[in-house]
Amino acid sequence: MAARDGAAALDQAAYTALVAELNDYAYRYYVLDQPSVPDAEYDRLYRQLIRYEAAAPERVASNSPSQRVGDRPLDGFIQVDHRTPMLSLDNAFSDDDLGEFVGRLEERLKRTEPLRFACEPKLDGVAVSILYRRGELVRAATRGDGSRGEEITQNVKTIKNIPLRLAADSAPELLEVRGEIYMSRSGFEAFNRRARDSGDKPFVNPRNAAAGSLRQLDSRITASRPLLFCCYSVGEIEAAGRSWMNHSELLASLAEWGLPINPLSETVEGVAACNDYYQRLAAQRDGLGYDIDGIVYKVDSFELQRRLGSVARAPRWAIARKFPAQEELTELLDVEYQVGRTGAVTPVARLAPVFVGGVTVSNATLHNRDEMVRLDLHHGDTVIVRRAGDVIPQVVGVVAERRREAAEPFAFPQRCPVCQSPVERDAEQAVSRCSGGLFCAAQVKQAIKHFVSRKAMDIDGLGDKLVDQLVDSEVIFSVADLYDLTAERLVELERMGAKSADNLVAAIAASRTTTLAKFVYALGVREVGEATAAALARAFGDLPALLSASLDELLEVDDVGPVVAARVREFFANPDNVAIIEALQGAGVSWPALAAADPAAQPLHGQTWVVTGTLAEMGRSEAKERLQALGAKVAGSVSAKGHCLVAGPGAGSKLSKAEALGIEVIDEATFVQRLAGWEGAR
Ligand code: NAD
Repeated sequence: MAARDGAAALDQAAYTALVAELNDYAYRYYVLDQPSVPDAEYDRLYRQLIRYEAAAPERVASNSPSQRVGDRPLDGFIQVDHRTPMLSLDNAFSDDDLGEFVGRLEERLKRTEPLRFACEPKLDGVAVSILYRRGELVRAATRGDGSRGEEITQNVKTIKNIPLRLAADSAPELLEVRGEIYMSRSGFEAFNRRARDSGDKPFVNPRNAAAGSLRQLDSRITASRPLLFCCYSVGEIEAAGRSWMNHSELLASLAEWGLPINPLSETVEGVAACNDYYQRLAAQRDGLGYDIDGIVYKVDSFELQRRLGSVARAPRWAIARKFPAQEELTELLDVEYQVGRTGAVTPVARLAPVFVGGVTVSNATLHNRDEMVRLDLHHGDTVIVRRAGDVIPQVVGVVAERRREAAEPFAFPQRCPVCQSPVERDAEQAVSRCSGGLFCAAQVKQAIKHFVSRKAMDIDGLGDKLVDQLVDSEVIFSVADLYDLTAERLVELERMGAKSADNLVAAIAASRTTTLAKFVYALGVREVGEATAAALARAFGDLPALLSASLDELLEVDDVGPVVAARVREFFANPDNVAIIEALQGAGVSWPALAAADPAAQPLHGQTWVVTGTLAEMGRSEAKERLQALGAKVAGSVSAKGHCLVAGPGAGSKLSKAEALGIEVIDEATFVQRLAGWEGAR
């Protein structure tokens, strides 16, 4: 490594080795879709290469990655020649780099007045070329090595936001459009969750997932993946009588023809405005829902683009200003195991702190035992950590080549690290659980934290730290013990003042009066969230009926399937749980009994409603609860089965979809009126 620190110190052998190393990474990244190091690491080595090549231009190797784009196309696909090469982009990593880039342009163009730039988010996906003849999609190809790519027409046709025919009559005779195919973060997370649950290998990141999904020989597989497209340039265009002066105008025409373009694109003048755009997008990056790895700045005028031209790998008139990396390398110090409320044992990696995705990360999830086995973690391994948006940091890979000799592997524990009970593998899910139940302090703590939470018993002033303290010092052993707590006992605890103790005792006392729905939710039955708890409460009216409900009776409840029904039965059949429920009732926890509802008699039985926009009088969650109490199902999206849409101000696509489907749409005032009628009649 020492020889690599300075470009000047890099001798010929080290240079050749660096070219070979980068080519190997590129092959795994572009051809196999299995990167072995994060982009940030590749970029660091690449910059070193460029510094060396700048100092010794006569020694640039013809196979250097600086001389080419991507890598060769995969065998197995028909290959397509790009009539206009699909280039890469040069990178800028700071305001200074960008300033130098603009300076170079001004010098070449011999001009001093500010240049106009099109600024676009740099989507982190896969570059493709799509050819339309007389408005019909006739061919699609990957970028490949820039001059030759893979034909993937059938796969591309499965992507929902790519028009198979261009919209307007004015569509050009021939259009070869270029853009990025990518996967949203939520689509990627959902795909990986399913892969992990079924023991399949997850993808490292959304870019990799998009690349792997696109290069499938069976287009049904591509069709099942949540891919999207966004276009950002044109390779070739023939449109009789029309011409475009600049990039931003051409993008606007693409949008008119029905092609998706990024709504965040803007044109600005001068370098300061470019940097301002970068800052604005950096602030929005986490909330975008898809990965962007930087900003692309393009000289807007086609005339100036022509004058500037291209070098081997990239145009001179554009640059990518990179954001801080979302994947980085760091050292794995240890693996610890967290035990959750339901006993699930989750391995967590303790890491040497690393700056990734805009924050310093020192812990990352390893998901479950299968994932640990797949990663084959050893002490001191160099691991790839990913942190994107608000998704919790995760270890997505190991650089096995950098493993120390004789490093010991990590083994998933056979016994719970907290209570030493055996850890058992859940039959249906890829989850390992501590079998200690209420003997396990970790599970008890989590159960209490859930019980006191806002949507459950809503006990203010009982934070996580205090719960840990109460259980660790053996003041309480279960949720029922909360009701025996006295201010005198509480003040004996460290850092507990008399006033806080009084307030807490008062909050606990106030929680005695609750609703059946909240109580059922607070018990923490696996798979029973807030909505299911409310449905159970409505269906059975009171606790004894729910406690003795058979599987068949449970299955009749809205939204209760076989898994939930089995969990509910299991929970209430356990004498320890029944003892806790009795103790809670003995301590005075109570709720008004509801009449057990005959579902068919409810006014909105069998109807599906959707609520969207802002409601002034009640939040959307209250609207949802009241609709459910009247027997309606409340869906998150509008479908042909929908009955009615409640639309407050700011309603968007759901409103247009409901109108298109001819579903009734009502405003809040009408909704409130109807609710009053139905609720009054009960
Ligand atoms: P790039 O991804 O840095 O930039 C060029 C690409 O940007 C274009 O081909 C296009 O696909 C995309 N793009 C997105 N939005 C765009 C927009 N609005 N306008 C124009 N283009 C847009 O370059 P590259 O040549 O595809 O790859 C180089 C990068 O790939 C490196 O920075 C490196 O991080 C990564 N890489 C990683 C490894 C690895 O092992 N991890 C190996 C090789 C390459």
